[in-house]
Amino acid sequence: MDVKKQLLNLKPYQPGKPIEEVKKEYNLSKVVKLASNENPYGCSAEAKQAIQDELNLLAIYPDGYSAALRTNVAKHLGVQEEELIFGNGSDEVVQIICRALLDSSKNTVMATPTFPQYKHNAIIEGAEIREVPLVDGDHNLEAMLQQIDGKTTVVWVCTPNNPTGTYVKKDTLLEFLSKVPKEVLVVVDEAYYEYVVAEDYPQTVGLIEEFPNLMILRTFSKAYGLASLRIGYGIANAELIRKIEPAREPFNTSRLAQVAAIGALNDQEFVAECREKNKKGLQQYYHFCSEKGLHFYPSEGNFVLIDFQRDSDEVFNALLEKGYIVRSGRALGFPTSLRITVGTEKENAEIIEILKDFI
Ligand SMILES: *Cc1c(COP(=O)(O)O)cnc(C)c1O
Repeated sequence: MDVKKQLLNLKPYQPGKPIEEVKKEYNLSKVVKLASNENPYGCSAEAKQAIQDELNLLAIYPDGYSAALRTNVAKHLGVQEEELIFGNGSDEVVQIICRALLDSSKNTVMATPTFPQYKHNAIIEGAEIREVPLVDGDHNLEAMLQQIDGKTTVVWVCTPNNPTGTYVKKDTLLEFLSKVPKEVLVVVDEAYYEYVVAEDYPQTVGLIEEFPNLMILRTFSKAYGLASLRIGYGIANAELIRKIEPAREPFNTSRLAQVAAIGALNDQEFVAECREKNKKGLQQYYHFCSEKGLHFYPSEGNFVLIDFQRDSDEVFNALLEKGYIVRSGRALGFPTSLRITVGTEKENAEIIEILKDFI
């Protein structure tokens, strides 16, 4: 049988190497995965307790509208409940947006390199992809504007950008939003929002009334530490949410994910601690890079992209042998760099020691 022709050249997502496999292959007793920007401190105890309390209800379908979580997130953000859409991870919100807005008569504009799921889902919908290279790791919003035409329906801005960690400053984003035609959806993916410390990072939630074509993506996978439960959301004008909702599966977020997310949201102290520790962890890497003269992008996320000026797989393997799984830059569009998730102070120090020995 024939699948859609646009699927023929797509590869399924390539996840990082599983921990168990690496243990066996290299005969290691301890392996640490710092490859997918997961939280090295796990998640809040409140999230775990919430799951315990929900276990007797596993036989019952979840609330398809995520009503309780919706109330909590709306209150936390100061938005209306109708201004939210929940997904099985923000990945699914990306998919819903593509299903709702793209087909073979449309095009979509994004940076490159950036988070790969925008392109992947847009290709499946048959849309034309217009990629605009980053400049010094930053989105080139001027050039992205130039790519917008009458057939553009979605523009993607990933900030902090994965894999560079760079962000779009408040004034730059506001100017961009004011220039994008109102018929074009601007998706601002803020998966790392909770880690950001830059003072000129825009507070976009307050902009959804002024810009009815703005959709913000957030997730519980990163700083909240719930990646395995798959829960993320979009924030936008109520009319826009209402229009895309039919593209969402009825029970797309699980019961456990919903209650855990409420627990996680209630524990802002945990998030603040993680943000503080992450900031210190980034400094460990910056210090190492300055000492060794290695280029890196200052990051507002919980990861750092370091250029080793040699085949990234070599450096990747040197860490792998010692039990650290990171992300080779080769598949990320940076063939001489590694993207390392910031771990605990001890993990960062160990990685830095291995890297020092290697280079
Ligand atoms: C990790 C990540 C996501 C996906 O998050 P989920 O909510 O786990 O699907 C989305 N966008 C970016 C930029 C990410 O790095």
